[in-house]
Amino acid sequence: MGELLTLELEQKAVAVREQLAAAVQEYGRVVYSNSLGAEAMVLTDIIWMHVPAVDIFSIDTGRLHEETYEVLEKLQRRYKRKIRVVHPDAQALEALVADQGVNGFYDSLEARMACCRIRKVEPFKRAIAGYGAWVTGVRREQSATRAQAKPVEWDTDYGLHKVSPLLDWTEEQIWQYIRARKLPYNLLHDRQFPSIGCQPCTRAIQPGESRRAGRWWWEQPESRECGLHPRIRQVAAQA
Ligand code: SF4
Repeated sequence: MGELLTLELEQKAVAVREQLAAAVQEYGRVVYSNSLGAEAMVLTDIIWMHVPAVDIFSIDTGRLHEETYEVLEKLQRRYKRKIRVVHPDAQALEALVADQGVNGFYDSLEARMACCRIRKVEPFKRAIAGYGAWVTGVRREQSATRAQAKPVEWDTDYGLHKVSPLLDWTEEQIWQYIRARKLPYNLLHDRQFPSIGCQPCTRAIQPGESRRAGRWWWEQPESRECGLHPRIRQVAAQA
């Protein structure tokens, strides 16, 4: 017999649903930036089953794992709906590669941020244009930076509200929900990839390492954000 949702988790899922519905009520057009990680399976399920007014997009940086494309396809087949896939601007990408090479992001923090800016941040800005709020799957547990986040906050960088309905979910609760609802998930999670980004910038973690240790592992921990959740802004917000 399959795993059932506990009462606590069911209540948490209802709270997410209510928070998203309230965001639609309050901010009008709301969009979810779907990372295709484990949290994204939960949010996609709740949105498409209960709050379909929330639009969903995902950024294809051009450097994703094959497993990530597979889970995108599985989601679309399961719910018979399409996720809007946003790509980097072709000319900007050509200029970046001409300047730093295809894997220039390993050379310096500046080069890495330039790549993230063109492959992720700029497509993200295009995708959220015209919306009153964007939804993210970040959880407090994921990093010291994310522990400071609020369920709803004004995103000064992008000029719209940011809604984080999974902030207080534990990793175990995410997986309980995935198992109970028999949701698809990125198979890299079975190979010690708790956090998944671009293929060249993500690796499996070792026992005892933090769950984001496999992201930009060659950098100092404090720089390991992609620009969509900039650390600098959050440090400033705490001051
Ligand atoms: S994660 Fe790596 S490959 Fe992806 S956009 Fe950032 S630097 Fe480029």
